[in-house]
Amino acid sequence: MKRQCGKPAASEIKLLSVLGRHYACNVKTARWAELDGKTWHRLARLREAPENVPGLAAVLEARPDSPKREESLAPKNLILQVSHACNLRCRYCSADFGRYGGRFRSMTARTAARAIDFLFESSDAADLAVTYFGGEPLLNLEAVLSSARHALGRAQKERKSVSLHLVTNGVGLLPQTLMRLDELGFSLTVSMDGQKGCHDRCRPFPDGRGSHGTIARQLEIAGRMPIGRRVTVRGTFTRESATFFPNVRYLVRRRFSNNIAYEPVFLPTSDPLALRWRDLPDIREAYRELARLYVDQWRNGNPFCLWDFDDAIVQLVRARPRRSRCGAGVATVAVTAEGDLYACHMSTGMDQARLGNLEGGLDEKRRRPWVERYRNGREGCANCWLRALCGGGCNTHAILYNKGLGRPYRLECRLIEHRYRLALWMLSEVPGLREAVSDRAESAGSDRGHLLTPLWACRDHAADRSEKGKTAESRPVNERVS
Ligand code: SF4
Ligand code: SF4
Repeated sequence: MKRQCGKPAASEIKLLSVLGRHYACNVKTARWAELDGKTWHRLARLREAPENVPGLAAVLEARPDSPKREESLAPKNLILQVSHACNLRCRYCSADFGRYGGRFRSMTARTAARAIDFLFESSDAADLAVTYFGGEPLLNLEAVLSSARHALGRAQKERKSVSLHLVTNGVGLLPQTLMRLDELGFSLTVSMDGQKGCHDRCRPFPDGRGSHGTIARQLEIAGRMPIGRRVTVRGTFTRESATFFPNVRYLVRRRFSNNIAYEPVFLPTSDPLALRWRDLPDIREAYRELARLYVDQWRNGNPFCLWDFDDAIVQLVRARPRRSRCGAGVATVAVTAEGDLYACHMSTGMDQARLGNLEGGLDEKRRRPWVERYRNGREGCANCWLRALCGGGCNTHAILYNKGLGRPYRLECRLIEHRYRLALWMLSEVPGLREAVSDRAESAGSDRGHLLTPLWACRDHAADRSEKGKTAESRPVNERVS
């Protein structure tokens, strides 16, 4: 029988079973449906054709696209590396304590202002984002504040919006500094790996003392200020902390913030802290425990956001193919203290990722492979069932482990896949989760607004609305099919 136009072929459907629940995903359209056990068995075990399941093809069809606009390839997210120095000596630091293979140095306020001008002059987007990064950006606070004021001033004059974000190790977050950042509307990502022992082993001061006590104190102070609602606490796990669940549970219980990110380290394979394939079972189990905690907390009215799952949850609710997870080299560009342009902060110092400088602007010849990768996807993703949802993994990791943009890092892929599976299960288990993220999913483009943007924006928004007696609008994107 000839397949009707728009109906997915069996080869386009990925069937999954996650913690007792069953799903069908269309690998081309990013649409998915939950199935009952009997239907799943017919499709997966008896190999029945999907078109024999009433309603399934319609759910898995592509959503009608909103009217097409010419897609802009201009940058809209700028990462400013204002300080190539750091006041910590983390054992897993991939930034060479901010030096990226060079020497310790800082960006001048003049270069920072020029970088802001570069963003406004090269971008046609109405919503821009600036992320301050390092090393440790608070070591160059005056350049941060003066360029942030400059960005806000230009935005006001040009009727644009600019969001300001700062990624810090937290050591310099004194009350006075927090107030100054708060006045300008900054959101923050602060590094904290969890329990004292684990954090202090990996994140010492140069004299060897652990930094946990200092950072916990600063986070508690921040939590009592308005800026506390805009803080994400970010941890890193390594080979030594592959069973990382107790560390995230600690962060949840300490309530430094309801916005948490807990991400794997990616280091050269020779590094003693680099993750290995044999760590996968521990990591998978840690994610499973975390997913159960996430579900319990949401059900008990004590929800927290976890970036690692939330990214997948938003994409599953959005249910449209996306091009890239972060837009590196296209929507996102990083600037070093010298004014060199790189695809993102993580790729600083990599020749393939050097895309020009503030003097001459973006070098379109060097940028071409990044644009092509953005437009056409990654060759190495062609057969993956997640290719429409995932955005193709990290470009810097592809270069670091596979020497080019063509092939993703397979160990990272296994983690991404595991998180997507659990995110499907979480969407089924948590009543109201889909509605809570649907606003954000509708507005999410093919890449994130800026680095580590947490879901607090949409969830606070959802909470605010229900406080005012309005229910969040529900847009059922994917349905249960039986
Ligand atoms: S705080 Fe960041 S830049 Fe500084 S040593 Fe630690 S990982 Fe490296
Ligand atoms: S990066 Fe990995 S998980 Fe993502 S689409 Fe490509 S192959 Fe799949």
